Amino acid sequence: MVHSIYSNKDSFLRELISNASDAADKLRIEGLRDKDLDVDISDLHIRLTPDAQARTLTVSDNGIGMSRDEVVDLIGTVAKSGTDELRRALADSSEENADALIGQFGIGFYSVFMVADRVTMVTRKAGESVGTRWESTGDGTYTLDDAPDAPQGTAITLALKPVDDDDAVHDYADQTVLRRLVTKYSDFISWPIRMTVTRPVPLDDAGSEEGAEDGERTEPTVEEVDETLNSQKALWARPRDEVSEQEYADFYRHVSHAWDDPLETITVRAEGTFEYQALLFIPTQAPFDLFMRERTSGIHLYVKRVFIMDDADELMPEYLRFVRGVVDAADLSLNVSREILQQDRQIRAIRRRLVKKVISSIQQIQDQRPEDYTTFWSNFGRVFKEGLMSDQDNAQAILKASVFASTRSDDEPTTLDDYISRMSSEQDVIYYMTGESRTQIEKSPHLEAFRAKGIEVLLLSDPVDEVWVGAVPEFDGKQFVSVAKGVVDLDGDADESDTDATSQRDEQFAPLLSWLGETLADDVTQVRLSSRLTDSAACLVGDAFSMTPQLEKLYRASGQEVPTSKRILELNPDNALVTALRTAFESGDDHTTLIPAARLVHATAVLAEGGDLEDPAEIARLLAATLTENLG
Ligand code: ADP
Ligand code: MG
Repeated sequence: MVHSIYSNKDSFLRELISNASDAADKLRIEGLRDKDLDVDISDLHIRLTPDAQARTLTVSDNGIGMSRDEVVDLIGTVAKSGTDELRRALADSSEENADALIGQFGIGFYSVFMVADRVTMVTRKAGESVGTRWESTGDGTYTLDDAPDAPQGTAITLALKPVDDDDAVHDYADQTVLRRLVTKYSDFISWPIRMTVTRPVPLDDAGSEEGAEDGERTEPTVEEVDETLNSQKALWARPRDEVSEQEYADFYRHVSHAWDDPLETITVRAEGTFEYQALLFIPTQAPFDLFMRERTSGIHLYVKRVFIMDDADELMPEYLRFVRGVVDAADLSLNVSREILQQDRQIRAIRRRLVKKVISSIQQIQDQRPEDYTTFWSNFGRVFKEGLMSDQDNAQAILKASVFASTRSDDEPTTLDDYISRMSSEQDVIYYMTGESRTQIEKSPHLEAFRAKGIEVLLLSDPVDEVWVGAVPEFDGKQFVSVAKGVVDLDGDADESDTDATSQRDEQFAPLLSWLGETLADDVTQVRLSSRLTDSAACLVGDAFSMTPQLEKLYRASGQEVPTSKRILELNPDNALVTALRTAFESGDDHTTLIPAARLVHATAVLAEGGDLEDPAEIARLLAATLTENLG
């Protein structure tokens, strides 16, 4: 069996170093902001202390540290993911898939239990006098004690599991292994990562020339020196062709606290009036909090290589909140505040450019890497489409880089460009229908004539679709038209005789339609003949600007008052039920006996589109009565 010299388990070290680096960043900023805080920020660093005899490894930092409450909140339980689910899953899982679980939930600190049987953390928060000692074997319980002598910062000591190359647990008490792992995973960390190493004293220093003259062999003299293991080079400042994909991936995991690989790496470099560099990533996996109100945002702001803040929302709009990375702006002040950021023209200009760059990268993935695009779309498509409402300037580019389900294929969504390329010469608009699910939309009677004529219709079933179709009128000069709204005219250039036949038919139906209009006045605004039905008797449509019932529902779900808008009832003049109704209507003067039938036709239209009847019990009663009459 060949063992890889790197393993998933190695990543515990990356996680601990990443946390220590964050802690140093925080203390530096706190130290600058709060002049009364009595801390030394002149030599912030991270230290690795392996002990081969005791088989322990200590990772320490002199960063911000944690208060006792913070230890309980942040470390005490698997707090970040917030899920009992994870803890249960961890408890139930075998050792091997514990790794996978930890990876999936991306809980940084807890990855230590992949390699340690017991972990002790001693920490003291900057500005506090007493520290805290936390200890756990990773079984979901822990002990807490005061640590009166704790130095400021955090030291995490792992009692290492036995080395097991079969299980890819390497010797993390070995300096060579540690040096290799730091170079590989954490080289870009901006604080020095130090390790005390022993090395032979260079000859001149030890003055061993005299010893040599004696001709005696003296004991080799060794000395302890601090070695800095990482180069501390900012990745975003290096030319792209000098950085490997692996280095970018590790940096991505550091800034985003994630465990996956980036789907796309984007570099931006601006020179001139204001200088900045950006290194952005589109993740492969969606973070668990993508749809939560309280979520982490992904852009870290630096000023000339110095970390300023880690959730610079101002640099990326909400709808691109899955983007992670770093922006380093040369001309901002080091003590720039959030309030200043919000108003800063330079920040706005950077954001505009980054947004365009991200959208064009997504476009490129769509054009060149179909599989990656599918991954992107299934994770972030719904979020990306939010931009259609909030970013009018880029709406066309967002639409172009999006895909939509359509009647053409059951499983392969289409781009709008492809949709347009398939349109016949008579079609000059893009047809769509919204609804709660694809299945529901597909069953709706509104699609019948489109299906019969082979006209492709987009099937939009994300909640966000209901909203953006109202906000973006067209794509590439082609209007978006709902098949469930307004009058559809699918025979645009019908000839004379057709028109004659149509107007004759309109005359024949006019009395029935106006009687139905009065009878159903509580439910509909109008009853008219339809050109969108081939099989069904009836369907409901809105006028061109009305809200769909789904959109009304969405608004209500978000707590807004929305009146139910009445819709238009359309009848299919070729349907047997409709012609029978007309015959019955024409054969007598007392139309009251037809009222139940009228109400049932309306109810059928509501049910056919998956809608909610206002009074289901009443309809059930009418239906039962009608059936009884027919059977009797
Ligand atoms: P994440 O880094 O994604 O927030 P972790 O599980 O790695 O998740 O760490 C949880 C939290 O514990 C961190 O956000 C931080 O607040 C705190 N923490 C962890 N390590 C340290 C440290 N060395 N110094 C200070 N705080 C730390
Ligand atoms: Mg972490």
